[in-house]
Amino acid sequence: MYEKEYIITLDQGTTSSRAIAFDSNAKIIGTAQKEFPQYFPQTAWVEHNPQEIWQSQHEVFEQLLREKNIKPSQVAALGITNQRETTILWDKATGQAIYPAIVWQDCRSSDICEAMKKADLSDYVRENMGLVIDAYFSATKIKWILDNVPNARQRAKNGEILFGTVDTWLLWKLTEGKIHATDYSNASRTMIYNIKTLEWDKKILDYLDIPQEILPEVKSSSDRYGEFKYQGVGIPIHGVIGDQQASLFGQACFEEGDTKNTYGTGCFMLMNIGKIPVISKDKLLTTIAWGLNGKITYALEGSVFIAGAAVQWLRDGLRIINDTSDSSFFAKKVADNNDVVAVPAFVGLGAPYWDMYARGAIFGLTRNTKQEHIIKATLDSVAYRTRDIIEAMEESLSTTTEKTIKTLAVDGGMAANDYLMQFQSDILDVVVERPQILESTAKGAAYLAGLAIGWWTKGEIIIQHRKIERTFKSKISDEERKKLYTQWLKAVERCRNWVD
Ligand code: ADP
Repeated sequence: MYEKEYIITLDQGTTSSRAIAFDSNAKIIGTAQKEFPQYFPQTAWVEHNPQEIWQSQHEVFEQLLREKNIKPSQVAALGITNQRETTILWDKATGQAIYPAIVWQDCRSSDICEAMKKADLSDYVRENMGLVIDAYFSATKIKWILDNVPNARQRAKNGEILFGTVDTWLLWKLTEGKIHATDYSNASRTMIYNIKTLEWDKKILDYLDIPQEILPEVKSSSDRYGEFKYQGVGIPIHGVIGDQQASLFGQACFEEGDTKNTYGTGCFMLMNIGKIPVISKDKLLTTIAWGLNGKITYALEGSVFIAGAAVQWLRDGLRIINDTSDSSFFAKKVADNNDVVAVPAFVGLGAPYWDMYARGAIFGLTRNTKQEHIIKATLDSVAYRTRDIIEAMEESLSTTTEKTIKTLAVDGGMAANDYLMQFQSDILDVVVERPQILESTAKGAAYLAGLAIGWWTKGEIIIQHRKIERTFKSKISDEERKKLYTQWLKAVERCRNWVD
């Protein structure tokens, strides 16, 4: 037993703030959650109020302590995990944001991105930032604020303004303005951080006219980040990491080739690629997974835009299921796919196709097609898209060392679907491991905080903490797998380039 009993993760997500208490066995003791407002002032604009982010996070922390009867003196450390890329600039003297937080989904800075591409910066950004030039990342959002808020750039040059992603903002608020810092994983999503030299990138900063003075210090993901003074007690902050990387860490994906897939509205897949920042040919992103003990671990990241969203469409659009969880039951009712393949390319196709003109389609319909086949085909599509990305990841790595995925760690709401998890294993021919606790994001941040204070050591001990609820192994032949995947690739080809 430790004198202090809990590590608390502050999980600041896109739609809600949560606080989760873990005991020294990494078991969840309690959770508090609060949604906060989203603002859509114009088409394709998405904003948060930084003060509401902070207040909701503070409230859930208080609520958790109150409801679980936890005294501040019992909290050994705090970990922070957060929505990534969302951009906040604030006044150093007053702590007031100079503009609302521009959320990662916000596309207002697309024109700046187009100009960057015209200025021939695409290759440079891929090679040094690991990213594809896109409004999604923080860089062009910072420039937009500096361009549009009166006097902002001059004040930034005078050292009066600070920039941060959400982790940095929370740290600054928690420490009452003493700490202006971020961790490697969050820095790597800004598109102004060079993931090879591990410095803010002067060339991109100059191009965007972003003054160095506003930038936070970049630290290890498991470090001492100052103290949160609460009811007279100083609670140290020891772990900071972006949400998707946190889930990779929470799944104990510590070895090269270890891969996790989070099945939510979309899928987020990350593969640990070790110490070398391999740049992918298929436009997967290369990102920093975490910095730990002075060493950087890199990851390849690929996402599928439509995953659980396709199941919502079965429910709300086609209305052939009442509840998303019924999809597993119906899919299992038919023996095979009856040659029906669905490609839910509702918003185009991401990696490795990158075709924004593709649209969804269902192929192979006959008089024999039942709604169960369509439900099954829709779930199957999520597994096929996952294989598309995993193949791209493996191809990106094939020039360096031979690495193949042997197991896939899964989490997210849709990972509860047994049919899908079995089919995922079938189509990949890898073992799918579903942990008991699907909360890997919060767990990842708690682990990093726990490492820093000596609660756990990396490797074996944390792996012991990873309790598998169920393992899925492939049940189909190589021949069957090949036939199904070939059919899928044919369907994808026919969806491509559909709209003008
Ligand atoms: P997010 O974090 O993106 O909101 P969640 O991890 O909460 O997503 O997962 C919710 C998504 O997963 C929804 O799109 C829902 O349709 C899908 N989903 C949840 N449970 C199941 C299930 N048992 N079978 C299929 N899809 C599911």
